[in-house]
Amino acid sequence: MTKIFFLGECMVELRELDDSTMGHSFAGDVYNSAVYMKRCFPTITVSMITAIGRDRLSEKMLSRFKSEDLDTQFVFQHPSKVAGMYFIETDSAGERRFTYWRNDSAAKKVVQFLTDDVVEQLTAADMFFFSGIPLAIIDEDSRDAFWQKLARLKQAGVKLVFDPNYRAQLWASKDAAIEQFNKAFQISDIALPGVEDLSVLYGIASAEEALDFCQQYQLEEMVVKNGPQSVVTQIGTERHSHQITPVTNVVDTTSAGDAFNGVYLGARLSGRSVFEAVQLGAKAAGTVIQHPGAIAPLAAFKQAMSE
Ligand code: ADP
Repeated sequence: MTKIFFLGECMVELRELDDSTMGHSFAGDVYNSAVYMKRCFPTITVSMITAIGRDRLSEKMLSRFKSEDLDTQFVFQHPSKVAGMYFIETDSAGERRFTYWRNDSAAKKVVQFLTDDVVEQLTAADMFFFSGIPLAIIDEDSRDAFWQKLARLKQAGVKLVFDPNYRAQLWASKDAAIEQFNKAFQISDIALPGVEDLSVLYGIASAEEALDFCQQYQLEEMVVKNGPQSVVTQIGTERHSHQITPVTNVVDTTSAGDAFNGVYLGARLSGRSVFEAVQLGAKAAGTVIQHPGAIAPLAAFKQAMSE
């Protein structure tokens, strides 16, 4: 049985339905990727690793994980912390604005639940995915322990996969992010960066330059996302630029990269070629951006993927 772990934070998403009513859903980059992988590749065991609370919204989040068929064995429930939350609004210029309540979320504590016993259980996976967002939010004093646990997984043969997903507001400084990202690139087997993330941190201007940047690490698979322009891959020494069919009806680009990551990796875990995996990942991303929010409705998503 093929098995992948996604480590990250899922949050409660609030949206105003009318002047006095809020609607809620659940989202977070790594969770979004897990959902889209499972929807496209149901035979893969897709597991979330995170910490939530024991509050009602955390319980609802856990139920949502289950209803998306995600394995929840490693969803830990912190006795006193609660799930992070954000409010999303669209301002008068049509720009999305986010207000976060996540500075004290349960997910910041996830590393303390990764005991040696748990890490031994995680070595059964084929892949372990993490991004720059969980890296940013885990307590600073648990980072060294986090890297040691990842080193144990790597030693056991688990493929480590990293997407930088740089969010400036989550880091004390650019240098702090660069220091942690360098560690992540160093330990990873597969990297799925977006050009935009690398351009802000490392002054990289193109997908080709992003691949050049990756050469200093021991990555076996590099996949660089560049919006509707292209996806550029390098496996071993072989580089390829893949064309993306631009979507004209873009409603909300939230989680385009997350959908791409989940479906690309699911395809690779299922033995598909890099070419096929990019096409499937791009199809999923192109579908998701035609719907509002991070998680597209199941029926519409499945329908689009089957066309
Ligand atoms: P992120 O969401 O991480 O910023 P990108 O903007 O690079 O990532 O988008 C991720 C993927 O989404 C791209 O590789 C591409 O496949 C798809 N995508 C993004 N924008 C478009 C678009 N306008 N039309 C079609 N596909 C798109």
